[in-house]
Amino acid sequence: MPAKLVHITRKKSRARHAWVFSNEVTRNEGQPGPGDTVQVFERERFIGCGIYNPHSLIRVRLYSEANEELDVSFLRKRLEAAWQRRREALPGEEDFRLLYGESDGAPGLVIDKYGSHFVVQSYALGLDQRQDLVVAALCQLASVASVTEKNDFRLRDPEGLPRRSGVLFGAPEPRVMISESGAGFYVDVTHGQKTGYYYDHRLTRRKVRALAAGRRVLDVFSYTGSFAVHAALGGAEHVLAVDASVTAASMATHNSVLNGVDERCEFATADAFTALSELDHQGQRFDLVNLDPPAFIKAQKDRNAGLRAYRQVNTLAMRLLSPGGILVSSSCSHYLFWQDLLEMLVGAAQAAERSFTILDRTTQGPDHPILLSMPESEYLRGFVLQVA
Ligand code: SAH
Repeated sequence: MPAKLVHITRKKSRARHAWVFSNEVTRNEGQPGPGDTVQVFERERFIGCGIYNPHSLIRVRLYSEANEELDVSFLRKRLEAAWQRRREALPGEEDFRLLYGESDGAPGLVIDKYGSHFVVQSYALGLDQRQDLVVAALCQLASVASVTEKNDFRLRDPEGLPRRSGVLFGAPEPRVMISESGAGFYVDVTHGQKTGYYYDHRLTRRKVRALAAGRRVLDVFSYTGSFAVHAALGGAEHVLAVDASVTAASMATHNSVLNGVDERCEFATADAFTALSELDHQGQRFDLVNLDPPAFIKAQKDRNAGLRAYRQVNTLAMRLLSPGGILVSSSCSHYLFWQDLLEMLVGAAQAAERSFTILDRTTQGPDHPILLSMPESEYLRGFVLQVA
């Protein structure tokens, strides 16, 4: 068990949160250093063990309510439990986010499973320092062909972590094949965006697939075509997909061929805002539009500019809908809370001069569990609207 101690005090409302902020620490015992594990005491009562980072505002990330070390057997235990949860929540699926940080009791650590290829992201110093243990634990648990780290993102900066990516173990295939809800997809774990594939929208894709039959579909911000392919498999008459990335569009074409729906799918490389305006000027109309933009609000300071971008792209999409048409509008910005998203959509509908009913709401799938005590673990929200 950890030898060093951290004493904290915090508001009742934050009592079960996995993060302890720097201003909640009252004193340390044993001089914990960067990445050290510590026992945490709240008003002299032991509450669990955490990882210490003196360079981060998140001073301690709690990883266990028990008094235990963060070693290979601990990581293996966490991985086993997370895997079991996925087996139960996603029967028949083999490819998913295997570990989702704090929600799976492994603060700051994300692991996506692509068959026997694994991609790791570390958001926190303590797990970053222990990536060799993570690889060892994975290898004890599964037959592992490769482990790749994709640690080249902005959120590592406040933890004082360098941005880097590369192979930690084995050799990734250039194109790994995965399956999701009965569709197949190629994933480039080395050069793809984020970890290669966006598992978080699994449930939204099922909804789109169920709504697509006989409809002309527009998939905006389509990446490698996951929504487009599911819509086509659901019986869409035609799918036009738009993304700014040429490599994503090329992979999307391969994915449509893989699923035998390429004759009904068209992948355009363009800026979404420009493309939607042009489609409107051409008088084109769609029966279902899927909007899955990148996070326009990455931090609170982006809020106003981000809200304008969401509103603009949603207004454009709403104008393109045929009578009775459906808009599936998502946001992956943590800071765009449900009420904000709803109000943004109300504004967009006013600008588009359209009325809608709310058919449904969407959120991240069960391989991205949301912790009740940690609002930060929820980031994916969406509404399914139908022209009234
Ligand atoms: N819907 C996708 C994920 C979308 S991620 C899926 O389920 O897999 C956001 C996508 O938006 C990325 O592929 C990125 O290339 C694209 N993108 C970002 N800005 C864009 C813009 N202005 N116009 C078009 N595409 C854009």
